[in-house]
Amino acid sequence: MTRRNHVLAAFAAALFFCSSAAQGQQPAATSLPVADNEYQVGATLYTQKAAEFRALAYQAFNFARCRLDSDLAMKLPKAERKRPRAIIVDIDETVLDNSPAQAAGVRDRRSFNMKDWYAWSDMRKAKAIPGAVEFLNYAVSKGVKVFYISNRDEVQKQATIDNLRSAGFRDVSEYNVLLRQKDERGNNISTKTPRRDLVAEKYRVVLVMGDNLDDFSDVFERRSVADRFAETERIKDEWGKRWIVLPNAMYGTWENAIYEYKAAELTEAQKAEKRAKALEMP
Ligand SMILES: [Mg+2]
Repeated sequence: MTRRNHVLAAFAAALFFCSSAAQGQQPAATSLPVADNEYQVGATLYTQKAAEFRALAYQAFNFARCRLDSDLAMKLPKAERKRPRAIIVDIDETVLDNSPAQAAGVRDRRSFNMKDWYAWSDMRKAKAIPGAVEFLNYAVSKGVKVFYISNRDEVQKQATIDNLRSAGFRDVSEYNVLLRQKDERGNNISTKTPRRDLVAEKYRVVLVMGDNLDDFSDVFERRSVADRFAETERIKDEWGKRWIVLPNAMYGTWENAIYEYKAAELTEAQKAEKRAKALEMP
């Protein structure tokens, strides 16, 4: 190494030390690139500290109860009466709150990655979203089957069932927790449509609840920001009827759409540029 390179290396090391120290953190233990995720602080704080977030969650589940009660009171056509009722819910940021994992990712400047995600789910520490336990246990008490359709992976299944149970949800088992499967080539099958269809074969689905529009219909999957808006408009009467949305500003397909579903190929700087460009200004 030349003297010039020594000086440059020392300068880079000092800069890295100073920036890590300034943020009060240790450098990440693995080779993950340092994530530019400070922008997620606002959404994470909103989830954890805004009473407005809690109010929105209660509003969603209170409204869900109104819709369920109307359905229970409805006189159904004869052909429909034999089909048991079901409610489909997503898990993450719909009935379980993973904001502590999001906060740790911001603290450690680490992007979402499966190692950290599995470690968090293994802890079984996620708390219930406000109102979720009361509503879903009420539905169970009325004989409604609740299906948890989530893109958590099969290896997370037992921890997920344990966490849902410890958070207070009743009637949680292998049968009604439907996680992401892999195809014969080992690729993830992320679309939830086949799992929703499986439930609809046997049950009359009264409500679907999720924080991501992909939880409701495949018309939103891998679509641009403009297309997601257009589809939301096209079926605007469905929102609050059979479909009830929970707020999640921390992450989601809405953000992947801003990156045109290429987040894995983009640098942190390129992602920041796309976020900045997406902002609407006067
Ligand atoms: Mg979710």
